[in-house]
Amino acid sequence: MKNRLHEITLSLCLWMLIALQACMTPASKESSASTLLPQPMEASYENSWLSLPSDVSIVLAIDASNRAKEIADVLAYELKERLGIKAGVRAGTTQEEGTIVFSHEGANVQANPEGYELTIEKNVTIRAADEQGLLWGAQTLLQSIENKDGALVLRRGAIKDQPARKWRGFFLDPARSFLQLDFIRRTIRVMSAYKLNVLHLHLVDDEGWRFETKAFPKCNAPGEPYYKQDELRELAAYGKRYGVDIVPEVDFPGHSCSTIAAYPQLDCEGKTRPVDKAILCGGKAFTYEFIDKVIGEVASVFPSPYFHIGGDEPFAIKRWAACPHCQKRMKEKKANSLQAFYHTVILEFTDIIQKKYNKKPIVWNDAFDPSVEPLPSKDVVIHLWRGIANAQAFAQAGYSLINSSAGPLYLSGFMLLGGLPLDAVHDWKVNRLGDPNAGDKTVNYAELSSNANFLGGEACVWATEQGLIERRIYPRLLSMAEKVWSDSIQGNLADLEERYKSTHQELLKKMGVWADEAMPKQTLFDGKDIEQWEAPGNQALIVKDNELIADASKNMAKGWLRSKNSYRNFVLNFEYWAPAQIDETGVYISCDSENNALSQGQMISTRPPAPIDEPPGGFDPATRQLYPAQTWNRYELVVRGNIATLTVGERLVWSSAHLNLKLGAIGIAPPAKGVKYRAITIRPLP
Ligand SMILES: [Zn+2]
Repeated sequence: MKNRLHEITLSLCLWMLIALQACMTPASKESSASTLLPQPMEASYENSWLSLPSDVSIVLAIDASNRAKEIADVLAYELKERLGIKAGVRAGTTQEEGTIVFSHEGANVQANPEGYELTIEKNVTIRAADEQGLLWGAQTLLQSIENKDGALVLRRGAIKDQPARKWRGFFLDPARSFLQLDFIRRTIRVMSAYKLNVLHLHLVDDEGWRFETKAFPKCNAPGEPYYKQDELRELAAYGKRYGVDIVPEVDFPGHSCSTIAAYPQLDCEGKTRPVDKAILCGGKAFTYEFIDKVIGEVASVFPSPYFHIGGDEPFAIKRWAACPHCQKRMKEKKANSLQAFYHTVILEFTDIIQKKYNKKPIVWNDAFDPSVEPLPSKDVVIHLWRGIANAQAFAQAGYSLINSSAGPLYLSGFMLLGGLPLDAVHDWKVNRLGDPNAGDKTVNYAELSSNANFLGGEACVWATEQGLIERRIYPRLLSMAEKVWSDSIQGNLADLEERYKSTHQELLKKMGVWADEAMPKQTLFDGKDIEQWEAPGNQALIVKDNELIADASKNMAKGWLRSKNSYRNFVLNFEYWAPAQIDETGVYISCDSENNALSQGQMISTRPPAPIDEPPGGFDPATRQLYPAQTWNRYELVVRGNIATLTVGERLVWSSAHLNLKLGAIGIAPPAKGVKYRAITIRPLP
């Protein structure tokens, strides 16, 4: 009997434990309970649902701040856009069921300012001490609404949530591949939906200036795309609405090819330089005047408390050793090595940022060698990307760190292809830095010292065309977003993939991600005939074995195919086979439809269209090996506005704003006999 009682007690305890777990399980343990991404710190659910009325009210306190009103407007807009729910915002109190209430009452004011509580009972209450918490609560609410048999419902329960890290960043590089403002705004909306709160914009690099500078107008080269200051002010305000701070970067004193092309007096010898060979003179007074004015101008446009000055990869620093201006200043600064002198230059830049413009400076970690004095104060934020020994020294010394571990958080770039796979990103944590070699698919991580003040992490995409960005970064960006929001939760990869496939892929689509892919694709050559083309002059191409082959017997100069239709913005895909190594494909864009001359068209070549568009390291003939002869190579050319970007295989070859692009036909004039084409398609873009 005793045993039996014991059994009953035990099973009762077990049952109670199970029941308790069912209603009070942390989200990490019962992932099926929700598809939220990032997962909240604590969640408990009941087995009942609240139906949302077709006309929802968002109710604020009478004395609600303007920011709280703005967040309510964001929520109303997103309810309509994402879920088709009509919502009105008003101040006062409420008794009606299914109302959304913003409240500061009873919130823990000591807690993380981004924290919030979301309670779903008779009403939906978002409770937060700070406005930013209201926004993240609203984003969790938006992800929580389910479609149950056609009705929009919310599972009753309570969520208590706050971020693990305050810097949850994403990096875009319009300097190398210009990005449309619409794309950036869409990205900001997506970032906010996943509680990412910093957009780092890389506005100046070797390849160009994307910031409109009134102080140094020559930096905005004629014909080059850039953002007007007012456009950037609006973008910053848009980011702020969505809780995303836009942190600008101007990358100096290296990466200054385009700057020196505009103002050669910034070079030690007054000469223009190719990519990677340019560095601002560290000795001339003009360099510091220039930097001061540029920082002032950029800082006045972006309200962010942070300012990124780059400082990475000073490849041409040896020029300073031979420059009388640099040598004079080096002595004045009592710097006994070029590296020490480099530190003094960066410190002058960070002092300007901090003391004159009252912003917190950020530099990439290779701006400083931690074994060489002088080193920055702890007010300078160190942005890690690679170099484990360097990063570890900064971590041990207690610096504030942002982790953009190149392996695996560089999600795309020139030579990186599409970066590392999802599982590598999923293994990353804020205190882990990896140093993979190119081509590695896994990362060996070093754990950094806990002495560091880890602000958070930031995923980066370099030099990538905007459509390709969207094709490449999901769901890896979301995995990273989850790590910086809730890094104490040991989520597993399968669960993340499941949530992504069941819910978030669809949500991203609704938010306009992959809009390009939804545009219909036209077949220009399917291997059978050339009905989509006309043949001005003698036709030099014949259809054979599903291929379009340059016939040796025809006159190449006269014979070319021209598409019957004309195109302005598009994605052109084709496969190309050449008997020997040839940069030119013979595929032309922007061809004149009226006229037989190809001369006004632009031929697609793996050689960059102009020196300034060359990838980092310049155009190395060895890179030709990447597009081998006697192999079918897949080409993709995207034309969007004045920007054309070529990808071969998965490799981004160049992005140029220097082509004379216009509405025109596609042309094919084979550059040599024996070259072949197949699978030619085009997807017109708006
Ligand atoms: Zn110099």
